[in-house]
Amino acid sequence: MNHQIVAGRHTILSIDDLAVLRANLEEQRLFRQEQLQQIAGTATVRTDAVPERQADSHLAVRDKLAASARMVLTDVEAALTRMDQGRYGACHLCCRPIALERLMIVPQARYCAHCQQVREAGR
Ligand SMILES: [Zn+2]
Repeated sequence: MNHQIVAGRHTILSIDDLAVLRANLEEQRLFRQEQLQQIAGTATVRTDAVPERQADSHLAVRDKLAASARMVLTDVEAALTRMDQGRYGACHLCCRPIALERLMIVPQARYCAHCQQVREAGR
């Protein structure tokens, strides 16, 4: 048997699937960590040559980038923790398994496609 029950009775991801997803998550974690380091590095550089207004908008873009990178990093780390605890792959809302095709695209997904849609529609 190449299958392992990972989270509840519904979610059955194979060990191979999990290995691919974990590699994907670890790659994303590294990428985001490097991105945040880069952003933090540029923060200390004062660009006096740039007109003030332009520098401000540049800072705003940088802050947005940093915020979204940090958000993804948090999600990715949470997904890795769930994986370690064997709770990975189940929707946080309906507890049904998240489709493998969805996890392959968004390995840090907390919700199944249906619940994600409901959440986004409810905003
Ligand atoms: Zn769901």
